[in-house]
Formats: sequence, structure tokens, C-alpha cells
Amino acid sequence: MGNLQGRSAIVTGSARGIGAGIAKRLASDGAKVAVIDLNQEACLETVREIEAQGGTAIALGCDVSNADQVQTAVAKVAEEFDGVDILVNNAGITRDNLLFKMTEDDWDMVMNVHLKGSFLCSRAAQKYMVEKKYGKIVNLSSVSALGNRGQANYSAAKAGLQGFTRTLAIELGPFNINVNAVAPGFIDTEMTRQTALRMGLDPEDFKKGAAARIPLRRVGVPADIANVIAFLVSDDASYVSGQIIYVNGGER
Ligand code: NAP
Repeated sequence: MGNLQGRSAIVTGSARGIGAGIAKRLASDGAKVAVIDLNQEACLETVREIEAQGGTAIALGCDVSNADQVQTAVAKVAEEFDGVDILVNNAGITRDNLLFKMTEDDWDMVMNVHLKGSFLCSRAAQKYMVEKKYGKIVNLSSVSALGNRGQANYSAAKAGLQGFTRTLAIELGPFNINVNAVAPGFIDTEMTRQTALRMGLDPEDFKKGAAARIPLRRVGVPADIANVIAFLVSDDASYVSGQIIYVNGGER
């Protein structure tokens, strides 16, 4: 506890799910956290939970795929929290379909949120990190980067984020900025619940089926990802950069 005291963090897509788990964990480790999501109202619940634990957080509405909105949101965080030390590019969507049924819009939306969003947020935040010669960026990849039926768009975006991570680690390393990615397996959130419903499955049965295939015999929860990210953005990980950490219960 407390090893992020005084640090300023941005977590995108943190109104719910994995992002909310990360925001709460970084706040409990002492960081001041900007909870960013499409809808500002939706961020308030995460902010309230952080404040109830004695932490500091602000809610900001921002579409990460919109350059102007990202610029404004990151500048506001830097002003309120005296810079940006930590950025977690977590905002994400799925638009699953088999290739022959996948629309151009399905492709573009997924690329825009995951890849362009991570690019825009990182570009805006690095300015403050370079100034201070201190920064931590973590991108959310996925086991789907290795290929997953029905997810040509998502898989390509999540694999793209791995190359993006390694490249930023090379470019930003000389400024004492660590850049890593976490690639989750099955994490129990609204995203996986919606996937089950889309497949016509009961979400609880879907989870049970996944747990049976996972060596650790359970699906993940947001805290499993938040724990690893808390390490990656801490000074305990100050010599870890350009890495993709799979957090998937041992799944292959
Ligand atoms: P989630 O429950 O669907 O939460 C994603 C959040 O991102 C939502 O609050 C969503 O807002 C927000 N968001 C979507 N588009 C955005 C945009 N353009 N700008 C800002 N915020 C936006 O998903 P999750 O399961 O927590 O996933 C978090 C991240 O982990 C994603 O990158 C996902 O791809 C990755 N991941 C998840 C799993 C898993 O099993 N759950 C596995 C591997 C990787 P709205 O609700 O308004 O759309």
C-alpha cells in the first residue's frame, strides 16, 4: 500500500469492469486517479468508491478515439494532478463476427477504440512524462491477439497493441518511461457477459465452460489484472519494459 503516493494516473474505460478494478487499485496504492470513460456520469460510481476508501479521483467523459477530446482530457488531468505519471490504456469494445459477415464499421470501430485510442492517449500523456523524466504506460492486449474465431478485428487490434507496446518502450525508455502490456484471458465483466448473450449462452454456463478449460480452473476477475498492473506501474518494476504479460490462469 502507498507506493504510488503522489503519482497521477489515468485509466481509460474505467467506469466499469477491468478499468474500474485498476482505477480502484491504483488509488488504494496512493495514486490520484482520473477515471475516464465515454460517459462522465458513468464514471461517478468508480470515483465514489475510490473516495469512500479515502482516495482521490476525478471523472472525465472522453471518447479515446477522438483526438480533440483526448487532448482536452489529458491536459485537464495534468493541470488538476500536476502532470500525468501513469497511463493505462484499457478502454475497449468488441464487434465480433465471422470474417464474411464482419462489416467495415465493425472493423473500424474496434481499430479506432483499441489502437487509435491507445495511440492518442499515449501521445498526449508522453509529453508530461518526458518533461518529468518519469512515466509508466500499460496497454491492455488480450489472449485473442494469438487468434480467436469471430474476432478478426479484435485479435488484429490486440496483436497491434503488442507491437505498439514494444515500440513505445524503445522510443520512451531513454526518458525513464516504462511501457508494458497485459494480455488477459477470460475476465468476468460486462464484456464477457455480452459475448455469452450474443452466442445465445447463459453467462453463468459460459463462465463454467471457460473455467473447465483453464488450468487454474476459474475465470479471472478484474482484481487479477489490477494486481499485475499495480506491480508494472510501481518502482518494483522499474527495469521491466517492452513486455507482454499474459494473465490467463495458465491457458494456452
Ligand atoms: P467492459 O466491461 O466492456 O468495459 C470497457 C469500458 O470501456 C466501458 O466502460 C466502455 O464504455 C469503455 N469504452 C468503450 N469505448 C470507449 C471509448 N471510445 N472511449 C472511452 N471509453 C470507452 O470491458 P472489460 O472486460 O472491462 O475490458 C477492459 C479491457 O480489457 C478492454 O481493452 C478489453 O479488450 C480487455 N480485455 C478484456 C478481457 C475480458 O475477458 N473481459 C479479456 C482480454 C482483454 P461504454 O460502456 O460506454 O461502452
